Amino acid sequence: MKPKESKVSIIALVYSIVTIYIIVYALFHQTNTDLIYIILIAYALGSVILSVWLVLDSQRTARHKKEAAQKRLSYLAQNLSAPAMLWNDSFTSIVLNDALKNLSEVKIGDDTDPKLVIPFFFGKKEMKDEDIHEVVTQKNLEYHFTTSSGRNREMIWNTSTIETDEENLTWFISIGMDLTDQRFMASQLESAAKKLTVSEGRHNLTMELMDVGILLVEQGNPKLFPSDKLQAMLGLKADYITIPELRERVFPPDMVVFDSHVRNLKNHMIDYIGKTSVLELRLLAADGQYRWFSYRYKAKEHADTGRLIVGGSVIDISNDKEKDARILKYAYEDSVTGIPNRNRLMLMGRDLYQSTIELKSSYWVIVMDIDRFHLINDTCGYAVGNELLKSFADAVNSQLNYGGFAARISGDNFALILRDTGEDTLPEKTVEKIQRLLATKAVGVLANRSLTCSAGYAKLPADGESFEQVMEHAEFALSSGENALGSIKRYTSAMHDSIIRESYLEAQLSDAVMNNSLVLYYQPKVALETGQVIGLEALVRWILPSGKVISPGVFIPIAEKSQLITHLTRYVLREACRQLREWQLQGLPEVVMSINYSSTDFYQENICEQIMAMLQKYQLNPRLLEIELTESLALRDIDVTVDRMNDLRKAGICIAMDDFGTGYSSLSYIQRLPFTMIKLDQSFVAHMETDPVVQEIVFAVARIARAKHIYTIAEGVENAAQARLLRVAGCDYAQGFLYGQPMTAKETEQYIRSNQQNRKVY
Ligand code: C2E
Ligand code: MG
Ligand code: MG
Repeated sequence: MKPKESKVSIIALVYSIVTIYIIVYALFHQTNTDLIYIILIAYALGSVILSVWLVLDSQRTARHKKEAAQKRLSYLAQNLSAPAMLWNDSFTSIVLNDALKNLSEVKIGDDTDPKLVIPFFFGKKEMKDEDIHEVVTQKNLEYHFTTSSGRNREMIWNTSTIETDEENLTWFISIGMDLTDQRFMASQLESAAKKLTVSEGRHNLTMELMDVGILLVEQGNPKLFPSDKLQAMLGLKADYITIPELRERVFPPDMVVFDSHVRNLKNHMIDYIGKTSVLELRLLAADGQYRWFSYRYKAKEHADTGRLIVGGSVIDISNDKEKDARILKYAYEDSVTGIPNRNRLMLMGRDLYQSTIELKSSYWVIVMDIDRFHLINDTCGYAVGNELLKSFADAVNSQLNYGGFAARISGDNFALILRDTGEDTLPEKTVEKIQRLLATKAVGVLANRSLTCSAGYAKLPADGESFEQVMEHAEFALSSGENALGSIKRYTSAMHDSIIRESYLEAQLSDAVMNNSLVLYYQPKVALETGQVIGLEALVRWILPSGKVISPGVFIPIAEKSQLITHLTRYVLREACRQLREWQLQGLPEVVMSINYSSTDFYQENICEQIMAMLQKYQLNPRLLEIELTESLALRDIDVTVDRMNDLRKAGICIAMDDFGTGYSSLSYIQRLPFTMIKLDQSFVAHMETDPVVQEIVFAVARIARAKHIYTIAEGVENAAQARLLRVAGCDYAQGFLYGQPMTAKETEQYIRSNQQNRKVY
């Protein structure tokens, strides 16, 4: 029982006892009843008044006490500089100090409901018992709230229990700490630090990886400031360098460039704001060598001093410079002789053509070819061949006159451009001088070799509408020499007529191919030991309506210039397979059919499929077909050639290297390309008996081929002496007029039949 209630109870008890005593006294003493009643009523009223007074008084005292306590607490809270609030567990009251009011923008009035306000500060919708427990028992609790103006506040709260009042309410004081600003600053710092470290790290890393140095120049300051990296790159001791000191390190020929940049910077630094300039020059580097450096710089105004600062990156570009120089060298210089190559010739030639028109001058364009150069390469090796090319280049160069130039345009082909002196014999006389110079090289391993060269020439600009055309005409004149050793030919319009004839032929040939007016002839291939026919080479003929037979040497090159060759080859393949099958069905002995493929055919994607389809159509075994390819084919793309040849080999088709010895690097191809047969060119056979070197080659080729399990066949065998020599050399087969000319299908059939009984071995 509370003290207030006990006091009231005692008073009530005293009143009750007094009342009972008065009633008992009046009953036993028979006193005046009216008086007694009056006394009793008065007494009762008095006791009621007293009771009411006592109750009111006790209530007032309690309120005073509570208010005093609250005042005391409020005072306490108010005096705290930290945000603080008083509240009780029944949420009947809340007091905020000014610090918290300002911070939270919460106004407490008479109508404020503490039930809503208290949870607000603890970031909750309502405060349950467990929330109160959490708030009171745990220290440094972090909560955040958003003020009415939308500001986020990060708070740390510490709550303590103060007292329990008469109403049995427990009071708490929560003291907060506003961390919002610190948190914001911390996060800003963190992200700035992160950015800084990331960008600085990246920057430094990039600089390190790229070997980039930095150089800063301040307006009016004689010192230049290099970064640590740049100091290391240049081997500088101090952390600054003056312009004269830097100038001392400049490679003398680059001094002019250096000075002009320095002068411009000094006088017009303002022009460099935001504009990147590049200075490339050679500087003495840390290793004591001059190296190429590139300085990319621009100017910027210093935020504090207002002075202009020029700065930028310095990179060692020596390797790039070297590469550039090498690329230029490769692009325009011949690697063997060191003189300009065809690319350079064409560039210079185009300019020259233009200038001859403008200046009304003229030049001679001479194209030269070292006769039978491939023989030297094959017999004496590439080193000797290259030496000869160099000597030839020197000989050609020695004949230059003012304004002329020389170039190596391919293998053993050279071009010489001579200024026209008005003397028409100049080209011929010059070539003759070169021929004499060349002849003097026939010493050592080249002794006893007839070193000569052939030439063709044309006049610039008279003989063509462009430099290319003049060159073409000079080359045409060279080829019109028909391989006669030492021939010198001038381009004439009669040669031009033959070009026109060619285009007429092309149109005619196109009709012939499309109308199947081509015919196949067959030439036998015979085993040197037994005289047995082992194969036939299909050789195409073009029969004109007049009955005139045109040889493939004339029309194949024309067909090769257009897509005609594809149609032509397809026709030959079909017809040869059809014929072979027919002979098979007639019971003729088995022979291998050889077909000539030009490079255009060979580089078609589906060549293997096409051939296999044809063999299948005529039910022929793939080993009965042989493809003849010339070695120049592989010059186009050796890897593609090898792949394509391997496909054919896998299918079982044989591959022969035709005209062996007429190309560039014959012997090396035997190593790389999967040939099954080598066809020695007829020029070998023709010169074999008289030229010991040629004989040597034939023997060597037969030996190497045998070691590599490749068969050899000699072309153009015309007499028995050749056949005997070839047999001695170890050659396997022969083909030539001695055994049989190319003949019609009917004649071939008879030839094979008679060969069964009648074989000749020479
Ligand atoms: P090739 O493949 O080297 O053919 C051999 C050539 O030498 C043939 O000339 C043949 O008649 C000739 N010949 C054969 N034996 C002798 C001989 O003992 N002495 C002489 N002086 N010559 C002989 P042809 O038939 O005029 O063919 C010339 C070239 O035309 C062939 O040379 C070949 O490269 C090409 N050719 C022929 N037919 C075709 C074909 O169907 N397609 C392709 N792409 N080229 C073909
Ligand atoms: Mg052939
Ligand atoms: Mg041949």
